[in-house]
Amino acid sequence: MSTLKPMLLGNLKRALLGLGVRKLPLIAGHKLLYTCNLRCRMCPFWRRKDEKLLSLEEEILMLKSLERAGVLFMGFEGGEPLLRKDLEQILEESYKRFYTSLVTNGWLLKDRVKRISEYLDYLFVSIDGIGEVHDKIRGISGSFEKAIEGIKEAKKYLPVSISFTITRENMDQVKDVIELSKKLDVKISIQVEYDYTTAEKLSPDKKRLYQVLKLIIELKKRGYPIIESVDYFEAIINSWYNNIPWKCKPWLTINVDPQGKIVLPCYVLNEYSGNYKVWEVDIVKLWNSYPWSEYESCNKCALACYLEPSLFKWSNSEMVKEKIIENIGNYIYNAMPIKFLLGGK
Ligand code: SF4
Ligand code: SF4
Repeated sequence: MSTLKPMLLGNLKRALLGLGVRKLPLIAGHKLLYTCNLRCRMCPFWRRKDEKLLSLEEEILMLKSLERAGVLFMGFEGGEPLLRKDLEQILEESYKRFYTSLVTNGWLLKDRVKRISEYLDYLFVSIDGIGEVHDKIRGISGSFEKAIEGIKEAKKYLPVSISFTITRENMDQVKDVIELSKKLDVKISIQVEYDYTTAEKLSPDKKRLYQVLKLIIELKKRGYPIIESVDYFEAIINSWYNNIPWKCKPWLTINVDPQGKIVLPCYVLNEYSGNYKVWEVDIVKLWNSYPWSEYESCNKCALACYLEPSLFKWSNSEMVKEKIIENIGNYIYNAMPIKFLLGGK
């Protein structure tokens, strides 16, 4: 369930902290672990042998450092975050400070969602196709059914979105998965697969992807519950097909690996290899001395956590309406006791 407190206080602190400096991270992503109970073919993380986890005390140190650096949104991921036994305690500490979300493959969700939802504002469940297509990508049969069961249960407690990654294996099912989100009455976040060097290459064929991106834009305009903006999909088309790059601002997102190290300049370029322990550096100083301009025209990936915030402009009224006004409306609605009177979830 949402609370207004962290965002209001956080915004105020961020505004004060931002006086006199140019760059502050806004969104934080943290891989709690690399271990996973599934075996996705395109995923480099479950294959890693260098996992060394933070203790609960260190997780709290990390959260406090991110709060001091002006972060407002905290997203937990993995590996599979639900494999951490102390997940509730970590989320509770995050929830006091940030708008908190988590992404899960859904396998363990049904039995645990009630407890974790106490400390979450938003939940993403990965679905990469319908039925066997999803299971084939995940490498474990039955994972589609488990994820759907988890989504149905989670919807009772908090806002939920499908997280969908377009690969060459599921390109023909993009419309079906978007329809599924509508049928389940949840939103859908859509990204394009990026090929990591240490996993199977499943990124979609660029020629066919063009038509798929056009279809997504059309469905979005027709009111399907797609989270990313039309600008997001148009930016990918412009960059990858028309040679008109977007300006990437990786500094808006700070990613932290399972050891508590900041991944610079972004999640993708160094394949999740951390540089500095979050609580051992002055993040604001680092953020304002790092050579970010070298990465402005990179355009290599289209990960929503980097591209979508990079595109945000106060002068774009549609984006302001969709990303700020409607979200604040939903946020207040979710935080108010009145939602129960009105029958909201
Ligand atoms: S569910 Fe996520 S973390 Fe687990 S193997 Fe698949 S992509 Fe990797
Ligand atoms: S476009 Fe390049 S710099 Fe920006 S997030 Fe992707 S890989 Fe990193």
